[in-house]
Amino acid sequence: MFTEPYVNLKELFDSEDKALLYLIENNYVNKYEKCRFCDSDTKLYINIKVYKCKNYKCRKPFSPLHGTIFSKMKLPLNIQLHLLNYYILKMPNSSIATTLKISNNTVTNYNRIFRKYIKDKINFSRNFKIGGRNKIVEIDETKIAKRKYNKGHIVEGGWVTGGIERSILKNKMKNENKKIFLLPIKERNINNIDLIIKKYVKKGTTIYTDCWKGYNNLRNIGYKHKTVNHKKYFKDPITGVHTNTIEGTWCALKQSIVPRNRTKKDLILYLREYHWRKKNREYNLWKMFLKD
Ligand SMILES: [Zn+2]
Repeated sequence: MFTEPYVNLKELFDSEDKALLYLIENNYVNKYEKCRFCDSDTKLYINIKVYKCKNYKCRKPFSPLHGTIFSKMKLPLNIQLHLLNYYILKMPNSSIATTLKISNNTVTNYNRIFRKYIKDKINFSRNFKIGGRNKIVEIDETKIAKRKYNKGHIVEGGWVTGGIERSILKNKMKNENKKIFLLPIKERNINNIDLIIKKYVKKGTTIYTDCWKGYNNLRNIGYKHKTVNHKKYFKDPITGVHTNTIEGTWCALKQSIVPRNRTKKDLILYLREYHWRKKNREYNLWKMFLKD
């Protein structure tokens, strides 16, 4: 994980003024803003954290944080940024609560707001599709679920369908961004699988899957389809077909969600968060979060 070092940030966690100045100086918040009520010029007062309209007939104040994620939350701005830093670092909720002297519930609420914000950043565009002719896409499903305490059987959770485009470059050092989609699926059946694949995978793509019957229609809807029988082997010894890339993604995805959160609720938020972290793994996550 790559993010802004704590030593670069610790000053702005000291006070609301420093936090606001930091956001302004780094262009995450506008330094100049026209009056929201009469479009006149305004002046920024850092100490009281408002823009004031210069038009003497208006004079209305408004917050420089208006329209940003930080306007939605109640804690002082410096504490919010502190929470954001710990969220990006994936610090456990109880440790954050202890460090900042706030309740576990507050930490949970903030982390959920951060996740929702990320979800909106990663929304797929209408024509987003992976694969294409001469490209291989691995498709698979997995259940994100938690086990009941002291009991072996899975109690609740949700199914996820995922597709990942194989990189053509053998050179793993290149570390290119793999094209991927991850979606919660309400019911795991042939119709839903067909709908998802039609929406997210280009026609003519070669699709690798296991032998589950839900994939039986792929040839009829415009794809080349090859399978690996997981009851016998992970990689077909004759055709070389395997789905190890998407299986590896499942493993990493599950590790990224703490067991108590492996439920249907908010599954989409965790999927998008995983996607966002993966997509931006070579960038500074702190900066990527703050910039629009
Ligand atoms: Zn005004």
